[in-house]
Amino acid sequence: MGAYRHEHPDLSFEACERARHARDPAFDGVIFIAVTSTRIYCRPVCPVRQPLTHNVRYFPSAAAAEAAGFRPCLRCRPETAPHSPAWSGARATVTRALRLIEEGALDQEGVEPLAARLGIGPRHLARLFRRYLRTTPTAAARTARVQRAKRLIDGSDLPMTEIADLAGFRSVRSFNATFREVYRRPPSALRRGR
Ligand SMILES: [Zn+2]
Repeated sequence: MGAYRHEHPDLSFEACERARHARDPAFDGVIFIAVTSTRIYCRPVCPVRQPLTHNVRYFPSAAAAEAAGFRPCLRCRPETAPHSPAWSGARATVTRALRLIEEGALDQEGVEPLAARLGIGPRHLARLFRRYLRTTPTAAARTARVQRAKRLIDGSDLPMTEIADLAGFRSVRSFNATFREVYRRPPSALRRGR
């Protein structure tokens, strides 16, 4: 559920396994590796010890891994993964949508104006997200806010209230609640830990 299955056209479980063992940077941002024993998800380039295959699940997006209950790794920092390489056709639309979402397209506006900017309907956009990222635009927007905030926590000394605002959260309360859910700890604990 949520993870890549063998029917995926170009990312079979075997291909993901090869990428993981090789720590292949070409797959960075394309697949996210979740480990069922630790409930953490990583980038393919993560330096931590390789988990056993039967504990591994692959996801096409950070949001999908989080929806399945996995936390972002604090070592390889999935929020710093690059954008996936050039996709064509429908997947290019998904990439563009994801980029707009990461730029905050869904923090002020709804899914409908976003879909309109992409020249498609909101239901079609939802279908594309389900198919290629195994998530929804709204969940991807939440992950994007968390990732934006995490980069600011790690890369600045700004106060948390300002980070919440800059990252696109509607309130500090929602910022704190979302971080507790995603990282299982408050945002301030992540700064102390760096
Ligand atoms: Zn990692």
